[in-house]
Amino acid sequence: MRFWLSILLCLSCTTTSCRVGNPPSCITQCGVLVFNALHPCDEYQFAEDVTLREFQFVTDARLHTCTLRGWHVEVQPSENFKGVYGAEVSGQTLCEANTMYVNNRLPNQSSLSHEMAHALQTCEPKGTIDLTDRYHSGWITQGIYDAISRIRSAK
Ligand SMILES: [Zn+2]
Repeated sequence: MRFWLSILLCLSCTTTSCRVGNPPSCITQCGVLVFNALHPCDEYQFAEDVTLREFQFVTDARLHTCTLRGWHVEVQPSENFKGVYGAEVSGQTLCEANTMYVNNRLPNQSSLSHEMAHALQTCEPKGTIDLTDRYHSGWITQGIYDAISRIRSAK
């Protein structure tokens, strides 16, 4: 109930004061608000920097820009967690709430870059919809999975 109330509150405004709970742990240079950070803010910034660098190589130009100001990252305390639709996930993005849920791993090795791709695509993949995996349509041919792989191995 509280979760849905938070979403309703966040949908009705765009400032951090609308979120129920603690203030963000970190704010990245792109303006992403990281809540419940489990690692130093530098690690989240590094993950964002590497993600934006590697996303320059994907063919969907929406991923070439840092247009995530005001988005929330809700860091979860475990590697897998129950998503809002009940399934076990390691990350989830709710575009209607400008919120990414990411797991507890080191930020560049976590689900963050994957969720940033969803966020930058506003949950609308480019091109033909792949009915076997509609939310990741074109991610192979556009180089998104390869970029995420490079981000996860970055040091
Ligand atoms: Zn996904």
